[in-house]
Amino acid sequence: MMMDDISNTTTGRRLTRAVRVGALTVGGSAPVVIQSMTNTDTADALKTAIQCAELARAGSELVRITVNTPEAAAAVPAIREQLDRMDVDVPLIGDFHYNGHRLLADFPECAKILAKYRINPGNVGHGRKRDEQFAQMIEIAGKYDKPVRIGVNWGSLDQELLARIMDANARSATPMDAIGVMREAMVASALESAAKAEEYGLAGDRIILSCKVSGVQDLIAIYRELSRRADYPLHLGLTEAGMGSKGIVASTAAMAVLLQEGIGDTIRVSLTPEPGGKRTQEVVVAQEMLQTMGLRAFTPMVTACPGCGRTTSTVFQELAQTIQNHVRDRMPAWRVEFDGVENMTLAVMGCIVNGPGESKHANIGISLPGTGETPAAPVFEDGVKTVTLRGENIAAEFVAIVDRYVAR
Ligand code: SF4
Repeated sequence: MMMDDISNTTTGRRLTRAVRVGALTVGGSAPVVIQSMTNTDTADALKTAIQCAELARAGSELVRITVNTPEAAAAVPAIREQLDRMDVDVPLIGDFHYNGHRLLADFPECAKILAKYRINPGNVGHGRKRDEQFAQMIEIAGKYDKPVRIGVNWGSLDQELLARIMDANARSATPMDAIGVMREAMVASALESAAKAEEYGLAGDRIILSCKVSGVQDLIAIYRELSRRADYPLHLGLTEAGMGSKGIVASTAAMAVLLQEGIGDTIRVSLTPEPGGKRTQEVVVAQEMLQTMGLRAFTPMVTACPGCGRTTSTVFQELAQTIQNHVRDRMPAWRVEFDGVENMTLAVMGCIVNGPGESKHANIGISLPGTGETPAAPVFEDGVKTVTLRGENIAAEFVAIVDRYVAR
Protein backbone atom coordinates (compact mmCIF):
# COMPACT_ATOMS: atom_id res chain seq x y z
CA MET A 1 0.00 0.00 0.00
CA MET A 2 1.34 3.45 -0.91
CA MET A 3 1.31 5.93 1.96
CA ASP A 4 1.71 9.70 1.89
CA ASP A 5 4.48 11.00 4.11
CA ILE A 6 2.75 13.12 6.75
CA SER A 7 5.76 13.44 9.04
CA ASN A 8 6.37 17.08 8.11
CA THR A 9 3.57 19.60 8.51
CA THR A 10 5.35 22.96 8.27
CA THR A 11 6.69 24.68 5.18
CA GLY A 12 9.93 25.57 6.99
CA ARG A 13 10.99 28.89 8.40
CA ARG A 14 11.22 31.72 5.93
CA LEU A 15 14.77 33.05 5.75
CA THR A 16 15.13 36.65 6.94
CA ARG A 17 18.05 38.93 7.72
CA ALA A 18 19.35 38.54 11.26
CA VAL A 19 18.97 41.76 13.28
CA ARG A 20 20.74 42.21 16.60
CA VAL A 21 18.63 43.81 19.35
CA GLY A 22 20.83 44.24 22.39
CA ALA A 23 22.28 40.79 23.00
CA LEU A 24 19.41 39.05 21.19
CA THR A 25 18.99 38.19 17.53
CA VAL A 26 15.68 38.62 15.74
CA GLY A 27 15.37 36.86 12.39
CA GLY A 28 17.90 34.70 10.60
CA SER A 29 18.02 31.31 12.24
CA ALA A 30 17.14 32.66 15.70
CA PRO A 31 14.05 31.24 17.43
CA VAL A 32 10.87 33.32 17.35
CA VAL A 33 11.33 35.99 20.04
CA ILE A 34 8.56 36.96 22.48
CA GLN A 35 8.00 40.58 23.35
CA SER A 36 5.50 42.64 25.29
CA MET A 37 4.87 46.22 26.32
CA THR A 38 4.42 48.06 29.59
CA ASN A 39 1.29 50.07 30.39
CA THR A 40 2.78 52.23 33.13
CA ASP A 41 3.58 55.92 32.84
CA THR A 42 7.20 55.73 31.66
CA ALA A 43 8.00 58.94 33.55
CA ASP A 44 7.45 56.87 36.70
CA ALA A 45 10.79 55.08 36.42
CA LEU A 46 10.39 52.76 39.39
CA LYS A 47 6.90 51.58 38.49
CA THR A 48 7.94 51.04 34.88
CA ALA A 49 11.11 49.16 35.86
CA ILE A 50 9.07 46.90 38.15
CA GLN A 51 6.66 46.06 35.34
CA CYS A 52 9.52 45.52 32.86
CA ALA A 53 11.05 43.09 35.37
CA GLU A 54 7.73 41.26 35.83
CA LEU A 55 7.31 40.88 32.07
CA ALA A 56 10.91 39.77 31.61
CA ARG A 57 10.68 37.24 34.44
CA ALA A 58 7.46 35.88 32.93
CA GLY A 59 9.40 35.25 29.71
CA SER A 60 9.24 38.46 27.66
CA GLU A 61 12.58 38.61 25.87
CA LEU A 62 12.15 42.21 24.71
CA VAL A 63 10.10 44.87 26.51
CA ARG A 64 8.76 47.98 24.82
CA ILE A 65 8.06 51.16 26.73
CA THR A 66 6.19 54.27 25.62
CA VAL A 67 8.49 57.25 25.12
CA ASN A 68 6.04 60.06 24.52
CA THR A 69 7.19 63.05 26.57
CA PRO A 70 10.46 64.69 27.70
CA GLU A 71 9.75 63.29 31.19
CA ALA A 72 9.43 59.76 29.78
CA ALA A 73 12.64 60.11 27.74
CA ALA A 74 14.45 61.50 30.79
CA ALA A 75 13.31 58.48 32.85
CA VAL A 76 14.80 55.85 30.52
CA PRO A 77 18.30 55.85 32.10
CA ALA A 78 16.75 55.46 35.57
CA ILE A 79 14.59 52.55 34.33
CA ARG A 80 17.68 50.80 32.97
CA GLU A 81 19.53 51.46 36.22
CA GLN A 82 16.69 49.98 38.29
CA LEU A 83 16.56 46.93 36.04
CA ASP A 84 20.32 46.44 36.36
CA ARG A 85 19.92 46.57 40.14
CA MET A 86 17.23 43.89 39.86
CA ASP A 87 19.59 41.86 37.66
CA VAL A 88 17.18 42.00 34.73
CA ASP A 89 19.01 42.50 31.44
CA VAL A 90 16.01 42.53 29.10
CA PRO A 91 16.54 44.88 26.11
CA LEU A 92 14.27 47.95 26.21
CA ILE A 93 12.55 49.21 23.10
CA GLY A 94 11.34 52.80 22.84
CA ASP A 95 7.93 53.36 21.26
CA PHE A 96 7.93 56.73 19.47
CA HIS A 97 5.12 58.68 17.82
CA TYR A 98 4.86 62.33 16.63
CA ASN A 99 7.83 63.75 18.58
CA GLY A 100 10.33 60.86 18.48
CA HIS A 101 12.82 62.88 16.42
CA ARG A 102 12.92 65.60 19.08
CA LEU A 103 13.04 63.24 22.07
CA LEU A 104 15.85 61.16 20.60
CA ALA A 105 17.82 64.31 19.74
CA ASP A 106 17.20 66.05 23.07
CA PHE A 107 17.81 63.00 25.27
CA PRO A 108 20.95 61.29 23.98
CA GLU A 109 21.18 59.04 27.06
CA CYS A 110 17.72 57.70 26.26
CA ALA A 111 18.76 57.18 22.62
CA LYS A 112 21.90 55.32 23.74
CA ILE A 113 20.24 53.10 26.34
CA LEU A 114 17.30 51.89 24.26
CA ALA A 115 18.12 48.71 22.33
CA LYS A 116 15.72 49.49 19.48
CA TYR A 117 13.43 52.29 18.33
CA ARG A 118 9.91 51.64 17.13
CA ILE A 119 8.96 54.21 14.50
CA ASN A 120 5.39 54.49 13.22
CA PRO A 121 5.65 55.96 9.70
CA GLY A 122 2.05 57.17 9.95
CA ASN A 123 2.90 59.38 12.93
CA VAL A 124 6.19 60.97 11.91
CA GLY A 125 4.72 64.12 10.37
CA HIS A 126 3.35 65.30 7.05
CA GLY A 127 4.80 66.25 3.66
CA ARG A 128 8.43 67.40 3.62
CA LYS A 129 8.50 67.54 7.42
CA ARG A 130 7.76 63.85 7.57
CA ASP A 131 10.82 63.02 5.49
CA GLU A 132 13.03 65.32 7.57
CA GLN A 133 11.79 63.95 10.89
CA PHE A 134 12.02 60.35 9.74
CA ALA A 135 15.55 61.01 8.44
CA GLN A 136 16.48 62.56 11.79
CA MET A 137 15.38 59.43 13.69
CA ILE A 138 17.18 57.14 11.26
CA GLU A 139 20.33 59.24 11.56
CA ILE A 140 20.25 58.88 15.36
CA ALA A 141 19.67 55.12 15.04
CA GLY A 142 22.72 54.95 12.77
CA LYS A 143 24.82 57.09 15.11
CA TYR A 144 24.17 54.77 18.09
CA ASP A 145 24.04 51.63 15.96
CA LYS A 146 20.44 50.84 16.95
CA PRO A 147 17.97 48.77 14.96
CA VAL A 148 14.54 50.19 14.25
CA ARG A 149 11.17 48.57 13.85
CA ILE A 150 9.13 50.28 11.22
CA GLY A 151 5.77 49.62 12.79
CA VAL A 152 2.79 50.40 10.58
CA ASN A 153 -0.59 50.36 12.29
CA TRP A 154 -3.94 50.43 10.54
CA GLY A 155 -5.26 52.94 13.09
CA SER A 156 -2.58 55.46 12.17
CA LEU A 157 -1.84 54.66 8.53
CA ASP A 158 -0.09 57.41 6.55
CA GLN A 159 -3.07 59.16 4.92
CA GLU A 160 -1.01 60.71 2.09
CA LEU A 161 0.24 57.29 1.09
CA LEU A 162 -3.26 55.82 1.34
CA ALA A 163 -4.59 58.58 -0.96
CA ARG A 164 -1.79 57.86 -3.45
CA ILE A 165 -2.57 54.11 -3.48
CA MET A 166 -6.30 54.85 -3.90
CA ASP A 167 -5.55 57.11 -6.88
CA ALA A 168 -3.33 54.52 -8.51
CA ASN A 169 -5.96 51.85 -7.87
CA ALA A 170 -8.69 53.98 -9.46
CA ARG A 171 -6.58 54.27 -12.61
CA SER A 172 -5.71 50.57 -12.67
CA ALA A 173 -7.20 48.29 -15.33
CA THR A 174 -7.81 45.71 -12.57
CA PRO A 175 -8.71 47.73 -9.49
CA MET A 176 -8.73 46.15 -6.03
CA ASP A 177 -11.65 46.40 -3.64
CA ALA A 178 -11.43 48.62 -0.55
CA ILE A 179 -9.97 45.82 1.58
CA GLY A 180 -7.26 45.17 -1.01
CA VAL A 181 -6.39 48.88 -1.14
CA MET A 182 -6.07 49.06 2.63
CA ARG A 183 -3.87 45.98 2.77
CA GLU A 184 -1.69 47.22 -0.09
CA ALA A 185 -1.31 50.62 1.62
CA MET A 186 -0.11 48.92 4.82
CA VAL A 187 2.46 46.84 2.97
CA ALA A 188 3.59 49.80 0.85
CA SER A 189 3.98 52.02 3.92
CA ALA A 190 6.29 49.47 5.58
CA LEU A 191 8.34 48.74 2.47
CA GLU A 192 8.69 52.37 1.33
CA SER A 193 9.75 53.43 4.83
CA ALA A 194 12.31 50.63 4.99
CA ALA A 195 13.69 51.67 1.60
CA LYS A 196 13.91 55.26 2.81
CA ALA A 197 15.68 54.21 6.01
CA GLU A 198 18.28 52.39 3.92
CA GLU A 199 18.57 55.42 1.63
CA TYR A 200 19.24 57.56 4.74
CA GLY A 201 22.09 55.25 5.66
CA LEU A 202 20.65 52.59 7.97
CA ALA A 203 21.98 49.13 7.16
CA GLY A 204 19.43 46.61 5.92
CA ASP A 205 20.20 44.34 8.86
CA ARG A 206 19.08 47.03 11.31
CA ILE A 207 15.45 47.02 10.16
CA ILE A 208 12.47 44.98 11.37
CA LEU A 209 8.97 45.46 9.95
CA SER A 210 5.47 45.14 11.32
CA CYS A 211 2.00 45.91 9.93
CA LYS A 212 -0.55 45.53 12.67
CA VAL A 213 -4.28 45.32 12.10
CA SER A 214 -7.12 44.01 14.23
CA GLY A 215 -8.68 41.67 11.65
CA VAL A 216 -7.43 38.09 11.48
CA GLN A 217 -7.81 37.71 7.69
CA ASP A 218 -6.23 41.13 7.10
CA LEU A 219 -3.22 40.22 9.21
CA ILE A 220 -2.68 36.94 7.40
CA ALA A 221 -2.98 38.53 3.95
CA ILE A 222 -0.72 41.47 4.79
CA TYR A 223 2.08 39.41 6.31
CA ARG A 224 2.03 36.88 3.50
CA GLU A 225 2.52 39.77 1.10
CA LEU A 226 5.22 41.44 3.21
CA SER A 227 7.03 38.15 3.45
CA ARG A 228 6.82 37.67 -0.32
CA ARG A 229 8.22 41.11 -1.10
CA ALA A 230 11.03 41.54 1.45
CA ASP A 231 13.38 39.61 3.70
CA TYR A 232 13.40 41.96 6.69
CA PRO A 233 12.50 40.14 9.93
CA LEU A 234 8.81 40.50 10.75
CA HIS A 235 7.24 41.35 14.09
CA LEU A 236 3.82 39.69 14.29
CA GLY A 237 0.92 40.88 16.33
CA LEU A 238 -2.79 41.42 16.07
CA THR A 239 -3.34 44.92 17.37
CA GLU A 240 -6.33 45.71 19.58
CA ALA A 241 -6.98 41.98 19.83
CA GLY A 242 -9.37 42.52 22.73
CA MET A 243 -9.93 41.12 26.18
CA GLY A 244 -9.86 37.64 27.61
CA SER A 245 -10.62 34.62 25.46
CA LYS A 246 -11.57 36.76 22.43
CA GLY A 247 -8.15 38.40 22.36
CA ILE A 248 -6.36 35.11 22.90
CA VAL A 249 -8.33 33.26 20.23
CA ALA A 250 -8.05 36.05 17.65
CA SER A 251 -4.30 36.48 18.20
CA THR A 252 -3.66 32.76 18.08
CA ALA A 253 -5.86 32.19 15.03
CA ALA A 254 -4.00 34.85 13.06
CA MET A 255 -0.46 34.24 14.22
CA ALA A 256 -0.61 30.45 14.16
CA VAL A 257 -1.46 30.43 10.44
CA LEU A 258 1.52 32.68 9.68
CA LEU A 259 3.94 30.90 12.01
CA GLN A 260 2.94 27.59 10.45
CA GLU A 261 3.98 29.06 7.09
CA GLY A 262 7.33 30.08 8.57
CA ILE A 263 6.38 33.77 8.71
CA GLY A 264 7.24 35.76 11.83
CA ASP A 265 10.48 36.33 13.73
CA THR A 266 9.12 37.96 16.86
CA ILE A 267 5.61 38.07 18.30
CA ARG A 268 3.52 40.06 20.71
CA VAL A 269 0.09 39.02 21.92
CA SER A 270 -1.64 42.35 22.59
CA LEU A 271 -4.26 41.63 25.21
CA THR A 272 -6.37 44.24 26.93
CA PRO A 273 -5.86 43.35 30.59
CA GLU A 274 -9.06 42.66 32.50
CA PRO A 275 -9.46 44.96 35.51
CA GLY A 276 -7.08 43.61 38.12
CA GLY A 277 -5.67 41.15 35.55
CA LYS A 278 -1.98 40.53 35.11
CA ARG A 279 -0.04 42.22 32.33
CA THR A 280 2.12 39.11 32.16
CA GLN A 281 -0.82 37.08 30.81
CA GLU A 282 0.09 38.11 27.26
CA VAL A 283 3.57 36.67 27.72
CA VAL A 284 2.17 33.36 28.97
CA VAL A 285 -0.17 33.18 25.96
CA ALA A 286 2.69 33.92 23.55
CA GLN A 287 4.80 31.18 25.11
CA GLU A 288 1.95 28.70 25.02
CA MET A 289 1.27 29.55 21.39
CA LEU A 290 4.87 28.88 20.37
CA GLN A 291 5.17 25.81 22.53
CA THR A 292 1.93 24.12 21.53
CA MET A 293 2.96 24.63 17.89
CA GLY A 294 6.27 22.92 18.63
CA LEU A 295 8.29 26.01 17.68
CA ARG A 296 9.88 26.57 21.08
CA ALA A 297 9.84 24.90 24.47
CA PHE A 298 9.70 26.87 27.69
CA THR A 299 8.21 24.70 30.36
CA PRO A 300 6.85 21.16 30.64
CA MET A 301 3.49 20.91 28.89
CA VAL A 302 0.59 19.60 30.87
CA THR A 303 -1.85 17.35 29.01
CA ALA A 304 -5.10 16.82 30.86
CA CYS A 305 -8.26 15.07 29.77
CA PRO A 306 -11.44 17.17 29.87
CA GLY A 307 -13.18 14.85 32.33
CA CYS A 308 -16.58 13.29 31.78
CA GLY A 309 -19.24 11.25 33.54
CA ARG A 310 -16.53 8.82 34.65
CA THR A 311 -14.98 11.49 36.90
CA THR A 312 -17.56 12.65 39.38
CA SER A 313 -14.96 14.03 41.78
CA THR A 314 -12.83 17.11 41.09
CA VAL A 315 -9.61 15.44 42.28
CA PHE A 316 -8.10 15.10 38.85
CA GLN A 317 -8.99 18.69 37.83
CA GLU A 318 -7.37 19.94 41.03
CA LEU A 319 -4.29 17.83 40.35
CA ALA A 320 -4.05 19.12 36.75
CA GLN A 321 -4.30 22.70 38.08
CA THR A 322 -1.70 22.04 40.77
CA ILE A 323 0.73 20.63 38.23
CA GLN A 324 0.06 23.45 35.74
CA ASN A 325 0.68 26.08 38.44
CA HIS A 326 3.73 24.27 39.70
CA VAL A 327 5.50 24.15 36.33
CA ARG A 328 4.47 27.73 35.57
CA ASP A 329 5.83 28.96 38.92
CA ARG A 330 9.03 27.06 38.39
CA MET A 331 9.27 28.22 34.80
CA PRO A 332 11.89 30.96 35.16
CA ALA A 333 14.29 28.38 36.58
CA TRP A 334 13.31 25.72 34.09
CA ARG A 335 13.07 27.92 31.04
CA VAL A 336 16.76 27.98 30.30
CA GLU A 337 16.91 24.24 30.66
CA PHE A 338 14.00 23.57 28.34
CA ASP A 339 14.22 26.43 25.88
CA GLY A 340 15.08 25.18 22.45
CA VAL A 341 14.93 21.50 23.33
CA GLU A 342 12.24 18.96 22.80
CA ASN A 343 8.97 19.48 24.64
CA MET A 344 8.57 17.69 27.94
CA THR A 345 5.01 16.55 28.58
CA LEU A 346 3.11 15.75 31.73
CA ALA A 347 -0.23 13.96 31.53
CA VAL A 348 -2.93 14.13 34.18
CA MET A 349 -5.78 11.80 33.23
CA GLY A 350 -9.14 11.13 34.81
CA CYS A 351 -9.77 7.39 34.37
CA ILE A 352 -8.65 4.08 32.94
CA VAL A 353 -10.17 4.63 29.46
CA ASN A 354 -7.40 6.85 28.08
CA GLY A 355 -5.38 7.40 31.26
CA PRO A 356 -2.69 4.71 31.05
CA GLY A 357 -2.27 5.10 27.26
CA GLU A 358 -1.90 8.89 27.35
CA SER A 359 0.31 8.68 30.45
CA LYS A 360 2.65 6.27 28.70
CA HIS A 361 3.05 8.70 25.79
CA ALA A 362 4.05 11.55 28.12
CA ASN A 363 7.39 11.91 29.89
CA ILE A 364 5.49 11.57 33.15
CA GLY A 365 1.83 10.69 33.45
CA ILE A 366 -0.65 9.82 36.13
CA SER A 367 -3.93 8.05 35.62
CA LEU A 368 -6.36 8.85 38.42
CA PRO A 369 -9.17 6.45 39.28
CA GLY A 370 -12.56 7.20 37.74
CA THR A 371 -15.88 6.52 39.45
CA GLY A 372 -16.12 2.90 40.54
CA GLU A 373 -12.46 2.13 39.82
CA THR A 374 -9.97 0.85 42.39
CA PRO A 375 -8.70 3.98 44.25
CA ALA A 376 -5.17 3.80 42.88
CA ALA A 377 -3.24 6.14 40.55
CA PRO A 378 -0.47 4.51 38.51
CA VAL A 379 2.40 6.83 37.53
CA PHE A 380 4.33 6.28 34.30
CA GLU A 381 7.80 7.68 33.58
CA ASP A 382 9.01 7.44 30.00
CA GLY A 383 6.33 4.88 29.27
CA VAL A 384 7.07 2.61 32.22
CA LYS A 385 4.90 2.30 35.32
CA THR A 386 7.15 3.25 38.23
CA VAL A 387 4.79 3.58 41.18
CA THR A 388 1.11 3.54 42.13
CA LEU A 389 -0.04 6.39 44.38
CA ARG A 390 -2.90 6.05 46.85
CA GLY A 391 -4.53 8.06 49.60
CA GLU A 392 -4.81 11.75 50.41
CA ASN A 393 -1.37 12.96 49.30
CA ILE A 394 -1.42 12.01 45.64
CA ALA A 395 -0.94 15.63 44.45
CA ALA A 396 2.08 16.36 46.67
CA GLU A 397 3.66 12.98 45.87
CA PHE A 398 3.16 13.45 42.13
CA VAL A 399 4.69 16.96 42.27
CA ALA A 400 7.73 15.47 44.05
CA ILE A 401 8.04 12.82 41.29
CA VAL A 402 7.93 15.55 38.64
CA ASP A 403 10.65 17.53 40.44
CA ARG A 404 12.86 14.46 40.75
CA TYR A 405 12.39 13.64 37.07
CA VAL A 406 13.34 17.20 36.04
CA ALA A 407 16.35 17.17 38.38
CA ARG A 408 17.54 13.96 36.70
FE1 SF4 B 1 -13.44 10.72 30.69
FE2 SF4 B 1 -11.57 8.97 31.30
FE3 SF4 B 1 -11.52 10.14 28.89
FE4 SF4 B 1 -10.88 11.55 31.03
S1 SF4 B 1 -9.76 9.75 30.24
S2 SF4 B 1 -12.28 12.19 29.42
S3 SF4 B 1 -12.25 10.68 32.57
S4 SF4 B 1 -13.08 8.74 29.67
